[in-house]
Amino acid sequence: MAAAGALAAPGQLNLTESPYWGSRSVDCFEKLEQIGEGTYGQVYMAREIKTGEIVALKKIRMDNEREGFPITAIREIKILKKLHHENVIKLKEIVTSQGPEKDDLGKPDDNKYKGGIYMVFEYMDHDLTGLADRPGIRFTVPQIKCYMRQLLTGLHYCHINQVLHRDIKGSNLLIDNEGNLKLADFGLARSFSNEHQSNLTNRVITLWYRPPELLLGSTKYGPAVDMWSVGCIFAELLHGKPIFPGKDEPEQLNKIFELCGAPDEVNWPGVSKIPWYNNFKPTRPMKRRLREVFRHFDRHALELLERMLALDPAQRISAKDALDAEYFWTDPPPCDPKSLPKYESSHEFQTKKKRQQQRQHEENAKRQKLQHPQPHSRLPPIQQSGARPQMRTGPNQSMHGSQPPVTGPGHYGRPRGPPVGPGRAPPYPSGGMPGGAPRGGGSGYGVGAPNYPQGGPYGGSGAGRGSNMMGGNRNQQYGWQQ
Ligand code: ADP
Ligand code: MG
Repeated sequence: MAAAGALAAPGQLNLTESPYWGSRSVDCFEKLEQIGEGTYGQVYMAREIKTGEIVALKKIRMDNEREGFPITAIREIKILKKLHHENVIKLKEIVTSQGPEKDDLGKPDDNKYKGGIYMVFEYMDHDLTGLADRPGIRFTVPQIKCYMRQLLTGLHYCHINQVLHRDIKGSNLLIDNEGNLKLADFGLARSFSNEHQSNLTNRVITLWYRPPELLLGSTKYGPAVDMWSVGCIFAELLHGKPIFPGKDEPEQLNKIFELCGAPDEVNWPGVSKIPWYNNFKPTRPMKRRLREVFRHFDRHALELLERMLALDPAQRISAKDALDAEYFWTDPPPCDPKSLPKYESSHEFQTKKKRQQQRQHEENAKRQKLQHPQPHSRLPPIQQSGARPQMRTGPNQSMHGSQPPVTGPGHYGRPRGPPVGPGRAPPYPSGGMPGGAPRGGGSGYGVGAPNYPQGGPYGGSGAGRGSNMMGGNRNQQYGWQQ
């Protein structure tokens, strides 16, 4: 990666690596199916023609890049190349295409950018969001322990290698049919130093999994940010749905405070010095209710969750200590990954697509019914003409039977990820406010909050890190930042 400056051209990557790194063509692979809509571009399942090996190809989107090779992709490649662990996705190779490219279905791609760059990963059958979203799925306690232990082991490895992931969430946790879980998507990751804490951007981590210190504007932070996200995932696995599904940053903070209590100098020494604390401190007392709300959880699970969801990052449990928690050492023990059931592949992209098709199908059926009222209302719904024959038409329930709302985020069913990135309006302008303050203006909310260059990041537009919502230009969003 020595040559990979911001302007490295295709083919110039990996100069310091073994000769074939970055020199092979994507034509060595046959694309089989699109499995993800990445922020950079698409992710495909593909077969290496020579060996028959199945891999995942993640295309680095270049069409929005005026600045040359995206800095975020450089970071992701650089970090992934130094991480080698069974719970971290393996980047096998970089391949290029000389364009004009064929798109996923073999049609010529009229994209102006003629060359393409792909990361080649080991293929994983599922991501956790896609898996949990399968109809009828319900994880057992040993299974949850098994996934959690792997998640913590992978994250501990990152943290001791001084890497913050900064986007831990279900769709970035990949699972294979051997029951192995691996951390993926290091597009927002970065190296950190324990000695001197430099300023980092607080505009990272998908909203629902973002810790209070970032929401309050902290720019000096460490591995504890990832541990908050782990706590959110853990609670989600036990609870069956996301625990903090905020629609914007003020609502996110409010949801956190409602469950975890409001921060003050007693439970979080130093909190009042965090940039936006005064803007967001609740106007009414809010007690910590975690134990009460989740009283039905197993005692050890609750104990661990309490320590993961500590408001004060300094008191939050580390990955290493979490692995030593009683929870993992009491009955029932975590199961052996190999004993986990094998499922047909499921990625968030696919389950989402199926759900959209299902919804479309239902709407069409409803419309048909309105236009031609049928005497027998229980006749099977009319097959939509455009629907693929293999489409699953059964109810696409989440694992605990809750249906994601049609609009807005739902259990694993949201448009690809709630907000993470900056928008144009002033900070937190439109949402609900912690402490039940009135919306908009007043109480210091939304007015003159510090640290947002160019008017502040949170536009309330729901701009997510996901490509669907942000047009995929993560480089412009984060490239200049830490
Ligand atoms: P983005 O930065 O856009 O979120 P990701 O690396 O998370 O990109 O990839 C998007 C999706 O593609 C993932 O959520 C996952 O479903 C799928 N995916 C990514 N890498 C792999 C892989 N190695 N094997 C199988 N699926 C993958
Ligand atoms: Mg991702």
